[in-house]
Amino acid sequence: MIDKENVSYLHQGKVMALITPFDDNYFMKRALVEAQAAYDAGEIPVGAVITVNDTIIARAHNLTERLNDVTAHAEMQAITAAANYIGGKYLKDCTMYITLEPCQMCAGALYWSQISRIVIAAPDPHRGFKTMGGNLHPKTEVKTGVLADEASALIKRFFIEKRNLN
Ligand SMILES: [Zn+2]
Repeated sequence: MIDKENVSYLHQGKVMALITPFDDNYFMKRALVEAQAAYDAGEIPVGAVITVNDTIIARAHNLTERLNDVTAHAEMQAITAAANYIGGKYLKDCTMYITLEPCQMCAGALYWSQISRIVIAAPDPHRGFKTMGGNLHPKTEVKTGVLADEASALIKRFFIEKRNLN
């Protein structure tokens, strides 16, 4: 999990650096690990994690091929898993880290969950909820562009490889 050595270091008996490893980049990296798992399984590589108080309570990736289910997006899996963990349907005080801008369906599910915050890596100008006219809950705080290049590169690589196989 966390390498404690990287959190702080001692120099002549004094703590020289205290870096919190639990920032948005840290959790987006965990979402990218999920996206990579989707990639390795031949799924469009999108991953998500949901946190409460800097603890991951749900992790998921796209499973539309494996489940033969167009609704099996990473966000939908993660919302269900997080609600199960919490034992309640609302995801208040939760943050979702998602490697691609949610589609309209997932934005709708996130709306119903009343999630506190979502952090998005790559934009989806074609099918993202912003283009499609979807809405998140007015109380949901949104941050975009965290590790966007990594998330975009993975998706681009997936489609290039797919094209070459056909
Ligand atoms: Zn979706």
